[in-house]
Amino acid sequence: MQSTCINLDELQPPVYVLRLGHRPKRDKRVTTHVLLVARAFGARGAYIAEVVDEELAARFRKVLERWGGASYFQLEMGVDPVKLVKKWRGEGGCVVHLTMYGLPVDEVVDRIRSCSKVLVIVGAEKVPRIFYEISDFNVAIGNQPHSEVSALAIFLDRLWQGRELRLCFPDAKLLIEPSERGKKVIKLG
Ligand code: SAM
Repeated sequence: MQSTCINLDELQPPVYVLRLGHRPKRDKRVTTHVLLVARAFGARGAYIAEVVDEELAARFRKVLERWGGASYFQLEMGVDPVKLVKKWRGEGGCVVHLTMYGLPVDEVVDRIRSCSKVLVIVGAEKVPRIFYEISDFNVAIGNQPHSEVSALAIFLDRLWQGRELRLCFPDAKLLIEPSERGKKVIKLG
């Protein structure tokens, strides 16, 4: 393990991601990338709204098994997103909807950091109005359209101030040894 490793408990508050509007054929790659960013940047789990996509789950599970996270990362599909948001808020958690129409991330991130847990919502196509209303924070990563993948990555980086890049996965089977050139991968166990 890298000597600078941090573990998941050092990334507070705990974050889960809610992916809205996943269309299995069209969004295969983008939703996979949302999950990859969630895992790599320190989220503890993700929810896919409405849809069950076993192919996506199987592909992502392989990443968890090889690169780590299988022991804790929760992936739940086919969830009712409005119910989930209401339940989350009922339990005292904060709901952050990433949207280019929201408030600049730097203006609200300190308040979000003091939440007990955070559910981050990212959309695909048009996000239904209700999510703007039932979220605690509508947060913009700049007020220009880009992507749910970039928005999620930058949000998590601002939330944890870069510490998430030192996250190590105790159950990983593969580990990269950083090198100037080439690819050094260590097989563990
Ligand atoms: N036009 C859509 C809408 O009005 O909801 C957004 C489509 S965009 C391709 C997909 C998702 O990326 C959005 O739902 C949002 O979560 C995220 N996103 C894109 N640009 C963003 C920005 N500047 N700030 C925050 N999130 C953003």
